[in-house]
Amino acid sequence: MKWRKNLLEQVNSMEKVRPFSHALDRLRDAGLRPTRQRLALAKLLFDECDRHITAEQLHSEALAGNIRVSLATVYNTLHQFTTAGLLREIVVDAGRSYFDTNTTCHHHFFDESTGVLSDVPDGQLEVSGIPTPPEGAQVESVDVVVRIRAAS
Ligand SMILES: [Zn+2]
Repeated sequence: MKWRKNLLEQVNSMEKVRPFSHALDRLRDAGLRPTRQRLALAKLLFDECDRHITAEQLHSEALAGNIRVSLATVYNTLHQFTTAGLLREIVVDAGRSYFDTNTTCHHHFFDESTGVLSDVPDGQLEVSGIPTPPEGAQVESVDVVVRIRAAS
């Protein structure tokens, strides 16, 4: 197992040397020009584990990290990333969207009292009886948001 530990150390040190490489690769693979702002926001979004984030939350993180960017630019960038397939938009109600870095098909819990969006564990929710879409349309995906609140 020693070789494995060494390999892990090598990978870790590579990431330290090239902190933007992961975000940069994601942008390039999606065919997006890696502008400075896109790169900075991509790093906040993709360099940790999967997350659900609103435009406002990402904007706050950017400001906290000394990334000078307007909320409008954050919105535009999130929508560009979504169109490019890097993010999935989860609309929980009118005027509130979360952006999910996990773009695979999965469902969500939305806590109405805390505003927290979280993943329904794999295999716990099954959708059956998908309706026939109107003529000329096809089903693109089915997203279920299970609304929860603290039990009283
Ligand atoms: Zn999710």
